[in-house]
Amino acid sequence: MKAGIGLGAILKAASFAAEKHREQRRKDAEASPYINHPIALANVLANEGGVTDPSVLCAALLHDTIEDTETTAEELKRLFGDKVTAIVLDLSDDKSLPKEVRKEEQVRHAPHISTEAKLVKLADKICNLRDILASPPADWSTERKRAYFEWTTRVVAGLRGVHPGLEAVFDGLVARQSELNCSER
Ligand code: NDP
Ligand code: ZN
Repeated sequence: MKAGIGLGAILKAASFAAEKHREQRRKDAEASPYINHPIALANVLANEGGVTDPSVLCAALLHDTIEDTETTAEELKRLFGDKVTAIVLDLSDDKSLPKEVRKEEQVRHAPHISTEAKLVKLADKICNLRDILASPPADWSTERKRAYFEWTTRVVAGLRGVHPGLEAVFDGLVARQSELNCSER
């Protein structure tokens, strides 16, 4: 099957991302395999959001490859085509910028990215809030978790209208912010 058009491309993206992230771990106490995260995004989009566009599901699987591995846009273009690559580029922060600037750029940039990229970004924020509620970075204070929720809410404000169902899932997670344990630190 040709890349970019269906199930074959989705599996190829999963395989490619697994290889690229193979030595990376998430920041939770168990140091989960990094690939769990891109797969979680694709799962949220397909099974909670009913998203069937293979380009969106491929981009979800590939969303952190340019930002967090040595993967280039040219490599993605060759293997997955221009559309998937454009979505991933819309989701990739410029790592040459200081972190606080990057975070503000995400807030500023969110309303202007493609509809497909908005869907993946919304799923990314859903998955990261779930991770912070269930398996947060081991060394994060409650204050830092709250700051992350607040920043994420500002980013998602710029995505609204793209998928009311997934936005409701996001809002349900934000409503659980009070579960973050104030007595930790
Ligand atoms: P980071 O960018 O350092 O970490 C969050 C990112 O890590 C996520 O967006 C996610 O990115 C990835 N990640 C990996 N594992 C997990 C996991 N288990 N749970 C959640 N995310 C995971 O965080 P921030 O810089 O955003 O820090 C949060 C807030 O805390 C900021 O808004 C800032 O104000 C404040 N802060 C506080 C500091 C302090 O020491 N008190 C220092 C720095 C910031 P991806 O999906 O791309 O993998
Ligand atoms: Zn991510």
